[in-house]
Amino acid sequence: MNGASAIAIIGAGTMGHGFAQLFAQHGHPVQLADQSPRVAAAGKEAIRTNLEVVVAEGFSTAAEAAAALERITVADGLAAAVAGADFVLEAVFESLPVKLDCWRRLSDHAPAEAILASNTSSFDINELAGVVQAPDRVIGTHWFNPPQIVPCVEVIPGSKTSLATVEATIELLKSLGKAPAVTKNVPGFVANRIQMVMASEAFRCLEEGVASAEDIDQIVKTSFGFRLGAYGIFEIADLAGLDTYLGVYDYLLEKYEDDRYRAPRLLRELVEQGKAGVKAGGGVYGYSGEEALRVREERDRKLYARLRAYLGERDAPERAVGAESGHGKV
Ligand code: NAD
Repeated sequence: MNGASAIAIIGAGTMGHGFAQLFAQHGHPVQLADQSPRVAAAGKEAIRTNLEVVVAEGFSTAAEAAAALERITVADGLAAAVAGADFVLEAVFESLPVKLDCWRRLSDHAPAEAILASNTSSFDINELAGVVQAPDRVIGTHWFNPPQIVPCVEVIPGSKTSLATVEATIELLKSLGKAPAVTKNVPGFVANRIQMVMASEAFRCLEEGVASAEDIDQIVKTSFGFRLGAYGIFEIADLAGLDTYLGVYDYLLEKYEDDRYRAPRLLRELVEQGKAGVKAGGGVYGYSGEEALRVREERDRKLYARLRAYLGERDAPERAVGAESGHGKV
């Protein structure tokens, strides 16, 4: 897909209107459809407001934002939306019967060469591919709210998805400034497997009264959450020391006697092989002597940049969401 592609977004709710905004901001003509014409029209209105923020934050000029809005057409139904599409992105309710019905219609009305993508959070891509005429053009793209801002898109090929479909989807996502990452077609893909386990533990801490909701959120935002925007789980673990992680797991397992604290087999093996992280010249990743030095220097530079952003936000409380909403206590 070179240059501007014709995009159809099916479902104009929480995610769908964000998709329409993003593609339009990158020069693509967008047809936005929803089973409810009211929601589709409201979606376009929400985009108008969102674009004011885009301009205020310096990501676009007012003229560019106006042009982006012009590229979005509220379509008269699904068939009209997908009729001339190169890339269709489905964002309807997370209900399998609703999605299957929608995908049958997509298959009937989209051009033969169009890529058909779903933003499903949980469903097996093969189930959706099973009701279309050309399953080689079906792919999962799992985005994160708000999709016009959050970089990651998990790309999930089904068992019949062609390599050409995968490559064209990744190319398109990169052209939007996104960070696509391919995952296997397993429940929860990668992000939700990690996020849900983390959220469970936070809820348990809250229900056990270990700390208040506010303090738990603050601990997350200012500790590992503070680092997570710059470093992934494995990069952080390698910097901390995998032997340290193993010691923490073993202690928690002994105290809580709960399998969820059992050290993962791979972590134990790495430590047993002497791969304790950056300090040992290797952990999940390998590090030559020079690389280990560079990784440590880079860590401080990246984290100071995040510290600057954090202190800036903290010292401008009127802009913080929590300050506006007042956060009712649980
Ligand atoms: P939503 O309820 O806000 O919007 C869904 C929209 O789809 C509604 O406006 C509805 O009217 C419309 N719709 C339903 N059936 C339709 C049909 N047959 N044809 C056209 N429009 C139809 O839902 P959402 O949060 O935007 O989620 C959409 C999809 O994205 C789901 O699969 C969800 O799991 C996934 N997702 C959501 C998030 C999130 O944070 N909200 C994140 C990642 C993935």
